[in-house]
This record gives sequence, C-alpha cells and structure tokens, in this order.
Amino acid sequence: MIAPCCPASAVVAAPGHLEQVPCNLCGAWDAALLYPGTIDLLDEQIDPQQVFACTSSHYGRYGPVVRCRRCGLVYLNPRLTAAAIEAAYEAVADTRYLAEREGRVHTFARALSELESVWERHGPRPAGPGRLLDVGCHIGVFLELAVQRGWDAEGVEPSRWAASCGRARGLRVRCSTLQGAALPSASYDVVTLWDVIEHFADPAAELREVWRLLRPGGLVGITTMNIDSLVARVLGPRWPWLMQMHLYYFSERTLRALLARCGFEVLAVRPHRRIVRVSYLLSRAERWLPQASRLAVAAAERLRLADYLVPIDLGDIITVYARRSEPHPSPNGVAVRR
Ligand SMILES: [Zn+2]
Repeated sequence: MIAPCCPASAVVAAPGHLEQVPCNLCGAWDAALLYPGTIDLLDEQIDPQQVFACTSSHYGRYGPVVRCRRCGLVYLNPRLTAAAIEAAYEAVADTRYLAEREGRVHTFARALSELESVWERHGPRPAGPGRLLDVGCHIGVFLELAVQRGWDAEGVEPSRWAASCGRARGLRVRCSTLQGAALPSASYDVVTLWDVIEHFADPAAELREVWRLLRPGGLVGITTMNIDSLVARVLGPRWPWLMQMHLYYFSERTLRALLARCGFEVLAVRPHRRIVRVSYLLSRAERWLPQASRLAVAAAERLRLADYLVPIDLGDIITVYARRSEPHPSPNGVAVRR
C-alpha cells in the first residue's frame, strides 16, 4: 500500500527566473540555435505539477534549444535558474506515476538484471552485499527491486512527495539533491542515474560528485535520451523528448566525452527498453490529439486492454555503464594526480 504521501504545495516558479548558461561539457559560451523555443519563457507560468512530473505530457513545449559550436552538446538556453528548478522538483507530486507502477517494475527489473551482468564482469568485489545509491529514486521502484535482490541500497530524491512514498514502503530515501545529501566519500559500489542526468542543472558537477561517492572501480549506470538517434533526427523539433524539464540532450558521443572529463571509463552502451501500460501509451498523445487520445484510452478500457503491458524501444534512449577511473578529475574537468 502506498501512503501517506504529503500533498504538494502549489508553488509556481516565477517566469522571471531565467539564466543563460555556458556549455556544460567544454565550458564555451559559443552555442548556435538548433530549435527555436515553442513557448515564451517570459510569459509562461511554470507549474511544477505540469512541467516537472515524471509522467508530464508537456511534450513539444520547450524554450530555445542550442548546440555548442565547439563540442556539439545540445541544451536548453536560456532556462530557469538552478534554484527555481530545484524548488520545482521539491514541490512536485506525481500521483499518476503510482498508477503506472507495474510498468516501471518491469522496466527496472530488466535494468537491474543488465546492471548486474555488467557489475559481475567489471565491478568491485565487496565482502558483503554491494552498496548501491539510486539518485533521483522517485517513489523507490528501482530501489525496492535492488533491496529484494540483496543490494544494500538507498536513494536520494528531491521531491518531498516522492521521498515520502518511498519511505512509506520501508525504503531508505533521503529527501535531498545529490550534493545536498553530502554523503561520505568512496562509500558505494554502484550509483544509478535512471532518466536523471538530463534534468540536472550542472551534470558535470553531479558526475564529479558521483565519482567522489564511488569506491575505486565502482560503477555508474546512466539512462538518457539520445539526440543523435534516428528518431530524434527524423522528428527534429517535434521529437517528443524536447521538453522544458529536460535541460540537456546528450548523444552517445557527448555523454562519453562528459564521463571521460569527470573521471569515468565507459564499459558498455546499451539500448533501453521501457515497459508501459497500453492506456498510458495512448494517453501520451494527449498533448497533440487530446480528444483522440481520450477516446483511445476509453476504448482500451472497454476492451479490457488498458492494463496490458507493452515494450517500447524506438532506439532513442540509451543506457551507459561506466567505471570510476583514476586519477581524480579537478573541478574544471582536467585530470589531476593525487
Ligand atoms: Zn561545448
């Protein structure tokens, strides 16, 4: 049973809280417009419940998307300030996610099996159970599976609502950002970032923090969308993952480069498959065809197809596994010997 979850406050991020940012990979202030924004950030009221929820259907609503001329990293610029984004994630409550729990269980069970196969080949060999930290663990679906499989697992999650849901299931969840949690150095064998890195205001700083938290040779698992995928290139500005909550759009190349800069050696890159309910899949079209989407969901429910689970893999989401390597990366990404 999932309860009790604290209600989210009705915080609305102020539209004036915008900032310009340099490239997070190479540091350059030299980006070209890739796709003009589809919303006016200065007019837009950013409601965290609508924009920053995991199950947000605000597809196709985003500010200007730019590409760094030097390294090719794609990101939103300008965007909400890091403080405004953090406040939005703290306030968000995503009750729709609870209804989709079963699909997430299947998705994460597969992810955990894949992670364990990489771990067995490349991971450190602790005396007891492996220590795992799930960053942005949300309501704790992956965490719970990891605990059931024998991992000594805990999570960090900024949403007060989601963290309380995880705790209500007996999971160890800190309600915090990763850096705010100030966890001890070299204390985890595995850190997972499932659908999280594209939401960070400063992914390089977060990856350096992951490096600090991992034991030497420890693994990080990252799932994110791939803007160099065929689907992303064909759909261009209509690629559904272009959303205001996604601040960065990595390709395999730019993610590899960022990991190398932050002290990681990439071990494997795999396609990612999601498993979702039929009704959830049909509801995703509500942004473009609201009436047709509602009719399709109603028809699926009448035909008792709504709860069927279907695998989705359009080839535009990747999972990257990387190992903490030495020497330690300095704050500007240049390796230093210690
Ligand atoms: Zn760059």
